[in-house]
Amino acid sequence: MSRNLGAWVLITLGLTGIVGGAGMVYIFSIANQPAPANARTLDAAPSPLLKYGSPALSAVVGLVFLCWGLGMRGSWPRVKSGSGKGSKRTCPNCGHLRPVTAVKCYHCGSSL
Ligand SMILES: [Zn+2]
Repeated sequence: MSRNLGAWVLITLGLTGIVGGAGMVYIFSIANQPAPANARTLDAAPSPLLKYGSPALSAVVGLVFLCWGLGMRGSWPRVKSGSGKGSKRTCPNCGHLRPVTAVKCYHCGSSL
């Protein structure tokens, strides 16, 4: 359960990073448009590293988190479905849960 939650946190962080990177590109593209004559502008333009590096880093880290989260989320149900109907079944004699690999019931001792 916590693994699935962690996967969704990673997926959320990944999507946030990707969208945030695209948002930074958009903001810098707006900031680069010529300002009106009476507008107050900053003299120092953002450095190319800040302009292209941070959106790219955000998008790449977001993509890594997204793939990581999708991998975690995707592998979890496959492991569970690989062993049939879960890892435990009920005893036909007493109705208690028993492991799938058990030869005899731990509760009533009947052969399975
Ligand atoms: Zn039993």
